[in-house]
Amino acid sequence: MSDSPDLRGFETRAVHAGQAFDPTTGAVIPPVHFSTTYAQDGIGGLREGYEYGRSGNPTRTALEVQLAALEGGAYGLSFASGLAAEDALLRAVLKPGDEVLLAGDVYGGTYRLIARILGPWGVGLRVVDMRDLGAVDAALRERPARIVWVETPSNPLLHITDIAGLAKLGHDVGALVVVDNTFASPALQQPLALGADVVVHSTTKYLGGHSDVVGGALVINDAAVYEQAKFLQFAAGAVSGPLDAWLTTRGIKTLGLRMQRHSENAQAVAEFLAGHAKITQVHYPGLPTHPGHELAARQMTGFGGIVSAELADAASARRLAESTRLFQLAESLGGVESLMNYPDAMTHASVRGTDLAVPENLVRLSVGIESVDDLIADLDRALARV
Ligand code: PLP
Repeated sequence: MSDSPDLRGFETRAVHAGQAFDPTTGAVIPPVHFSTTYAQDGIGGLREGYEYGRSGNPTRTALEVQLAALEGGAYGLSFASGLAAEDALLRAVLKPGDEVLLAGDVYGGTYRLIARILGPWGVGLRVVDMRDLGAVDAALRERPARIVWVETPSNPLLHITDIAGLAKLGHDVGALVVVDNTFASPALQQPLALGADVVVHSTTKYLGGHSDVVGGALVINDAAVYEQAKFLQFAAGAVSGPLDAWLTTRGIKTLGLRMQRHSENAQAVAEFLAGHAKITQVHYPGLPTHPGHELAARQMTGFGGIVSAELADAASARRLAESTRLFQLAESLGGVESLMNYPDAMTHASVRGTDLAVPENLVRLSVGIESVDDLIADLDRALARV
C-alpha cells in the first residue's frame, strides 16, 4: 500500500494507508468490526483469511497497514499496549542465555520487563550509555548481544543516539537493533530508513494522540522476525481490541500536524525554561546547547514535544510538578493536552536504585498543542511558588 504512487508523502500515508472506503456501502471511513468470529464458506473456507478475533480483525489490519506505511516498514503489528508489543518481540526473538544490551535511559517499564519478567527465564541484561558508540562497541566486543535496544529521544532525559551508527555496530555482531520511536513518532524520525531492524511504539502516546486509548505496535522489515512476532501476538493473545485499533487509526490521521505544533510549543517552552532563574538545566534536543542537538537535527525532522527540566533540588521539582494548572499532573505523554510528570516517583519509580535511576530534581513536561502563551504563563506562575 505504501508503494502506491498516490501514497508517497507522509501525511498522505497517515490519512489513507489501510483506510480504503468500505466496498459494500461506500462508507468513506472504514467501519469498526466488532465481530469476534467469521462465517466460513465450508470448513476452512475463510474470507480474506479472517477466522477468529484474536488471530485477525479487519480494523486491526487497517491499523497495521497504516503503521507499516508510516514507518516505511514491510509489516506492522498492533498490540494491547506498548509493553505487550515489547514483550511479544522479546519473547519472539530471545531464548534463555541470550542477552539484551539496553540504553542507559529508557522508559522504566521496559527495564522492568526485561530485568524482572524475562530475567528469571534466563535472559541477560546489560546497560550501556548508547550516546557513546565507543562504549557500545566495547560492550559488544566483550560479549555479543542478541538485541540492542535504544530509545532516541529517550525517556525522560532526551538522550539522542546515532541510529545509523548503532545499527552498524549491532549488525556487526548479528544483533537485532530495536528502536523505541515513541517520543519522536514516525512524523519526525523513521529508524528503519536509518538501519534499525524493528521499531517499537507505545501508541498510547503520540500515535493515538488524545490520551484515550492504550496500545502498542511493532514495525518490522524482516519476514522471519515478523512471522515470529505475529505468532506470539496470536498465541499469547495481547491484541488490540477493535475500538482501540480504530481510535488509534483516527488519531494517526492528524499525527503530522500535531507533531509540528508539539515541536513548536516545546521549543518555546524549553527556551522559556532555559532563561528562568529557578531552572538549573533543560533537556530538549531543540536547544543548541543540548549535546545531541546536531545529531537530532540530522536524523529527525523536528525535535518533538517532550521537555525535561532540573531544579535546585527534589523538593523544588516536586513543588513545581504540583503547582501548574494547565499542565496537569499525570503519567503518560503525547496527548493534545499538556501534562506534568515527576519521573522519580511516577513513570520511573520502577528504576529507583538501578543503573537507570533518574535525577530526583527532574520534572518531565509533555507539551501539548494549546496556545503556547498560556502554557508559558502557567509555568511562570507555578515557578513563582517554587
Ligand atoms: N516506551 C516508551 C518510551 C514509553 O514512554 C512507554 C510508556 O510510557 C512505553 C514504551 C510503554 O507503553 P504502554 O504504557 O503503552 O504499555
